[in-house]
Amino acid sequence: MEKTISKQKYSTNELLPVGIYLHIPFCTTKCGYCDFNAYANLDYLVSDYTSSLIKEIKLWEKSLNKHSVKSIFFGGGTPSLTSITDLQQIISTIFETFNISPHAEFTLEANPTELTEKYLHKIRELGINRLSMGVQSMNTNELQLLERTHSPQQVLNVIKASRKAGFNNLNLDLIYGLMEQDLQTWQETVEKILDHHPEHLSCYALTIEPGTPFYYRVEKGLLSEPNPDIAAEQYEWTRERLEDAKYVHYEISNWAKKDHECIHNLIYWQNKDYLGIGAGAHSYFNGKRFANINAPNKYIELVNASYAEWGNENHIAMKQIISTETPNLVTTRSDAAILGLRLIEGIDFEEYYKRFEVDINQLYTEAITKHLKTGLLEKTKSSLKLSPKGLLLANEIFVDLLPDNNMQSINKSGD
Ligand code: SF4
Repeated sequence: MEKTISKQKYSTNELLPVGIYLHIPFCTTKCGYCDFNAYANLDYLVSDYTSSLIKEIKLWEKSLNKHSVKSIFFGGGTPSLTSITDLQQIISTIFETFNISPHAEFTLEANPTELTEKYLHKIRELGINRLSMGVQSMNTNELQLLERTHSPQQVLNVIKASRKAGFNNLNLDLIYGLMEQDLQTWQETVEKILDHHPEHLSCYALTIEPGTPFYYRVEKGLLSEPNPDIAAEQYEWTRERLEDAKYVHYEISNWAKKDHECIHNLIYWQNKDYLGIGAGAHSYFNGKRFANINAPNKYIELVNASYAEWGNENHIAMKQIISTETPNLVTTRSDAAILGLRLIEGIDFEEYYKRFEVDINQLYTEAITKHLKTGLLEKTKSSLKLSPKGLLLANEIFVDLLPDNNMQSINKSGD
């Protein structure tokens, strides 16, 4: 029986909306391109980590008692490695602790390798209503290059099994711009996926992140660099193909069937409140940005120390939080501009004015004029948005909107 998502202590209109992100940092192997806060071979920590996650949820109870949770997102790492018993305990604690909106989106990120039909049925029963799967490619050689442990056939089996288990909101992550990947092999991946009508698609270009094995191999000349021209061609083709297939392109890298946009990620892009729980999780809550410690063993230690003091003091220490900043108005306006431009509909002049009491055209006159000229931005009567060319070169605009050339971080998850 599916868990009914409804635990409102107050009526919805009295409560402030918030999203909750829970980080599961464990993976069976670490993929060569991955710079997420994810670790292989830490199985011995799983049980202690689950109990610390539960403790951290409880520590936030008071702070969230005037909020309504409109999305819950298990990201990683590989959340689908979590046992049903552990998930059950975490989810029960969430429902007992927070006000969960009756229509909350409830996502779990998953790796096709581990997903069984039984597991999918169980998580659906626990109330998870959106599955986000790290497919990346439907080409065996490309999956090997990415050091993924699943096969294209496993992806197809899992899509079928997830439908059988009752998932009617399925996201599939794909990666283009791989070294040696031409337009045709990318097209084959997309076509194979479209045959199965996922409600949502995230298509990301491969980036070579410092500190990853891929970065090292590229530096040493052992791996060729992705070709940005081919990646641009693949992206252009994807936009056209997905539009033909009736997907709404709503964010630079995200497409959805009507009414299936990811509520959780929209919270990030709309610069609204979210709380990150777990190792390395980031939050933007009550005007503050803060982040938990990355290392899972340290996280466990620090949450346990905070929890030991819980109830003894009015102020809970939250020792797992290792960085906090209160963005000033200049930064908040810049964040809202950069994140808002990621959305295809762009920034609504009136909404921006309502929020900051300033006309965005006056605030960023120089950058906007410059990029209307470069053709990366487009202006309508009511909004400012990226042009088709701007979708490919968005960072060139974002840099000009930064107060100090530093991009802020939001919860990055894998799979
Ligand atoms: S890409 Fe996903 S599965 Fe691979 S190591 Fe990173 S988080 Fe784990």
